[in-house]
Amino acid sequence: MIVLSGGTGTPKLLQGFRRIIPDEEITVIVNTAEDIIVSSSFVSPDVDTILYLFSGALDFSKWWGIKNDTFHTNNALKKMGINEKLMLGDADRATCIFRQELIQKGLCLTEATLSLSCALGIKAKILPMCNEKVDTMIKTPEGVLHYQDFWVGARGTPEVLDVEIKGIRKAKPTKEVLDALEYEDNVIIGPSNPITSIGPILALKGINEILKTKKVIAVSPIIGDSPVSGPAGKLMSAKGYPVSSNGVARCYGDILDIMVIDDRDTANESDIGVRTVRFDTIMTSVEKSESLARNILELFRDIR
Ligand code: GDP
Repeated sequence: MIVLSGGTGTPKLLQGFRRIIPDEEITVIVNTAEDIIVSSSFVSPDVDTILYLFSGALDFSKWWGIKNDTFHTNNALKKMGINEKLMLGDADRATCIFRQELIQKGLCLTEATLSLSCALGIKAKILPMCNEKVDTMIKTPEGVLHYQDFWVGARGTPEVLDVEIKGIRKAKPTKEVLDALEYEDNVIIGPSNPITSIGPILALKGINEILKTKKVIAVSPIIGDSPVSGPAGKLMSAKGYPVSSNGVARCYGDILDIMVIDDRDTANESDIGVRTVRFDTIMTSVEKSESLARNILELFRDIR
């Protein structure tokens, strides 16, 4: 099974899949368009969340970072007048230093991630979507901000005029991503931000054409007219999409076989334009994640 993922909604669903499928059978293709260098350490926020999820270290209260991590380095830097763009915990920082060391030695992001997976004892295949540098840039009335400056630095408050994924046209899906897609038929697009998490993966050369030949089930991160969390609504509006499951389906286009929306959602199948199935998609506990994961697996049986 292949899952396309960002760093919050889809990891919750993966937590459920892990209870019913062995990790060895799970491949996660992860967004890298929010990656950033912080204090000479290579932070790949979505990849890191997935690494920590599978290694059991994730801080589930925040869905980023390592549980019980300390922040001595971040605090020491603050005292010296350096306010880091992201709150990096000390153990979390070690991951990012490890990655940066390997990249500096000439390894690509995929190789560095595989080394990290190995070091953390992870059996799932965690694949960055590409090896090239890709940056999500948010256009606001005050200027263009890197995604992290918009979301973490400015807490997502500026008005959003446009979103650009810088570098995406030159980026290619990796050989590992293409190989995984060649041997697997079932693809899940998790409930992640359609513009900044899933959008960059789908924008990679050739991915759409490949996905049209697969069984693809997407889970909507939007219920009614708002996201469960985060800035997806604002970013979808800026790109001209309605903030609804219908808008999410439009973002993904004709690659979908089934759209999963929440029981409480008012969207309907005729607007969404593909077979639409309703489940409880709010994953407030691991049991709820597991139940949604089971329901999704069942759906694959119906797709020819
Ligand atoms: P990011 O990388 O941190 O932006 O995280 P993602 O893109 O993976 O996930 C963010 C999206 O997940 C948001 O648009 C939320 O609406 C959605 N989300 C978070 N939790 C849930 C949940 O329990 N259910 C559903 N359906 N969506 C969720």
